[in-house]
Amino acid sequence: MAYQALYRKFRPDRFEDVKGQDGIVTTLKNQILAERIGHAYLFCGTRGTGKTTVAKLFAKAVNCENRKEDGSPCGECPTCRAIAAGTSMNVIEIDAASNNGVDNIREIRDEVAYSPTEGRFKVYIIDEVHMLSIGAFNALLKTLEEPPSYVIFILATTEVNKIPITILSRCQRYDFHRMTIDTMVDRMRELADQENMQVEDKALRFVAKCADGSMRDALSLLDQCMAFYFGQELTYDKALEVLGAVDTSVYGRFLDQIMDGNVTGAIGILEEVIMQGRELTAFVSDFTWYLRNLLLVSTSDENMEDVVDVSSENLARLKEEAKLIDADTLMRFIRIFSELSNNIRYSTQKRVLTEIAIIKLMKPEMETDLSSMKQRIAKLEKEIANGVKAAPVQNVQAAAPVVHKEKVPLPPALPEDVEAVTGNWGKILKKLDQLCRSAVKFAHPTVKGDELIIVFEDAMNYAIISEKPNTEQLQTVINEIIGKEVRFRLEMQKADSPFDEDYPDLKSLINFDGIDIETEVQQEDF
Ligand SMILES: [Zn+2]
Repeated sequence: MAYQALYRKFRPDRFEDVKGQDGIVTTLKNQILAERIGHAYLFCGTRGTGKTTVAKLFAKAVNCENRKEDGSPCGECPTCRAIAAGTSMNVIEIDAASNNGVDNIREIRDEVAYSPTEGRFKVYIIDEVHMLSIGAFNALLKTLEEPPSYVIFILATTEVNKIPITILSRCQRYDFHRMTIDTMVDRMRELADQENMQVEDKALRFVAKCADGSMRDALSLLDQCMAFYFGQELTYDKALEVLGAVDTSVYGRFLDQIMDGNVTGAIGILEEVIMQGRELTAFVSDFTWYLRNLLLVSTSDENMEDVVDVSSENLARLKEEAKLIDADTLMRFIRIFSELSNNIRYSTQKRVLTEIAIIKLMKPEMETDLSSMKQRIAKLEKEIANGVKAAPVQNVQAAAPVVHKEKVPLPPALPEDVEAVTGNWGKILKKLDQLCRSAVKFAHPTVKGDELIIVFEDAMNYAIISEKPNTEQLQTVINEIIGKEVRFRLEMQKADSPFDEDYPDLKSLINFDGIDIETEVQQEDF
């Protein structure tokens, strides 16, 4: 028999097997039992939290011929079997990532007109629904407005902020939570027992930690470990070997350089890590975890072995390291790196952001000012003045009509329109996506004639909004709210910085190669 991955093999076929989403499961079961089934559901949440699993279970349950008392499908009737095998005409799964056009949705609208051939409901599960084009959303909206009684839509998404409000308002929304480590450990323990696998508890905890809230990741990581040590007991050390594979001493060395204030050394280690082919996102989150462990070790006298998930030999090393750094500094480091960890996930300039964060760690005063960023702006401005390259920020007015070809250009903003931006700042923030909103939140909009200047205190936020798609998003939202073409500029707050004297060569240390300054052919007339 072909090998089947754990997460496929053990996809829950009863509601009680769905872990960590009790509230959602109870509500859905009650709807099924009371025959009060909605026509449009929206399942939101990060990957691997059970959205598709629950959607399929729900689709089975509403169609099952011998539903169980708790509302779960029987799993045995022809309808249940057909759905499980993916041959049912009544459960249609669509991946919006690859079928995101108007035509794909129109096809659904045409199909919806025919009542189900077997069973009671036609269930459309649209995964990654945020990937639909605007036209496709509009087409979907028409169907959601007047759905036939036998149709259920289950829309699943990892990015609910990209779903139009018109769609949101027509769906029952359910937020799937990240799995806790305990939930994942319990589930893996159950499955390991069923499969007669010998696994140490500590190994399961480590696997769960690596999975970062995703049950699917947890099970596939467990799969990897079991495949590697087939037929043997999976110990913590073996799991470390398969999954960790990271020499944890690199974090210690990295921290030493930071504590010594050695920018070159720290960035050198970063370089080393990148050369080894490690993903920066993973490195940043692992280093944050390392700092968290140090903090726990340094603030507690108790035996931390269970809380700090490391081997006893590493624990001894952590204790030594913890003596060299105080808790306040550690907390500051953790804050900066957690912020970084959130920001780089969506950024195309992971390396620059990481390097800026490293420097921030060493220079507390830089958190409100970063003169290297000013230098960078100066450099960009000079390049633009020379007409060599065009940065998106300075050319927004010229760029906007190009970006939105289909739109009629807006009239340019008058000073009072620009004034209105500051009054509507809250509204503007609300319309931005999460990343942009968090970056713009602490910036100050100021008016200078018919121009808006957005002043940033924080270099990382400045860097995020300077990225072209984010600048464009901000432009679009501001124009939309004000109804005029508002010219704006991004600036770093001016302040005297001790930075220049201390690190005159800093610019050469930061890898600015990652920053794209696109030359835009469309702007020849600028
Ligand atoms: Zn059934």
